[in-house]
Amino acid sequence: MSRRFLSIGECMVELSQTGDGLLRKGFAGDTFNTAWYARACLAADWSVDYFTALGDDAMSDEMVAFIDKAGIGTSLIRRIRGRTPGLYMINLKDGERSFSYWRDSAAARSLAADPDRLREAVESAEVVYFSGITLAILPQEDAETLLAEVRRAKAAGKLVVFDPNIRPRLWSSYDVMHTTISEGARSSVLVMPSFDDEAAHFGDDSIEATIHRYRALGAIHIVVKNGADGVTLNFAGEQTFVPAEKVEKVVDTTSAGDSFNGAFLARYLEAGDAPTAARFAAKVAARVVSEHGALVPREKLGLDGG
Ligand code: ADP
Repeated sequence: MSRRFLSIGECMVELSQTGDGLLRKGFAGDTFNTAWYARACLAADWSVDYFTALGDDAMSDEMVAFIDKAGIGTSLIRRIRGRTPGLYMINLKDGERSFSYWRDSAAARSLAADPDRLREAVESAEVVYFSGITLAILPQEDAETLLAEVRRAKAAGKLVVFDPNIRPRLWSSYDVMHTTISEGARSSVLVMPSFDDEAAHFGDDSIEATIHRYRALGAIHIVVKNGADGVTLNFAGEQTFVPAEKVEKVVDTTSAGDSFNGAFLARYLEAGDAPTAARFAAKVAARVVSEHGALVPREKLGLDGG
């Protein structure tokens, strides 16, 4: 039987401007992006599944077909009658990107409202991945359901992985955000934060401070990403620094962290060595920031030595 990597969260419809007043449609979302790169980098004896909730409209059908075509399992996705997916638009003005979101009533907000289905999905997986955005979009009671489930998975010896992906605008208050993200980290084995977010929102004055805070909460391994300044790994207390790859021209940093996470996890699961995995992930992320869009196709990731 294949081993399952399960990613839990929200994938949205993405509209981007093409410059001639037309809009291009795509699909993206942090945990989905990570599933995409994990799928691209993992061997075929792993299945990668996405866990979310969608509606029963044509756009939800299209998203499921898109996920399926990417080789990512859709059988665990909950479909809710009368609901629709969330939507965001990328606005371009004078070369600067900004985002508008329509996600308040997205079906994904109900992804943990069926606890039995969630439990079954988590139990079926060896690796469980979720993020601060996954927690932020859930009603508080459902966030607690999800946290209880991942705690159970951690206790059962599964690799539970959490990217805090801090987005203050998604949270009702700083207090709730701090408490819930800390609880996410406490419930996980591996935490993969981005240092700039942690410094801005938890007030960490160094990468050491970020590592110390998450270890004190109960995370066992920590990977702190720091853009072009590389990553610092702390695996069961052993610390290593891995530099970023040199990139000639950064085109679009969308999903740099998500792709790093997916590639890192894929290589870590297969090679079992964190620094090796981080060197591989830095190469993949360097390709991703050299291309447009969140989801760079497998052929452009240089995985086969190309
Ligand atoms: P996030 O997107 O979560 O903020 P980072 O900006 O830390 O994450 O980027 C994640 C990874 O992407 C980095 O660890 C690095 O490997 C790669 N990366 C990001 N920006 C650059 C860059 N300018 N040059 C080279 N690599 C980069």
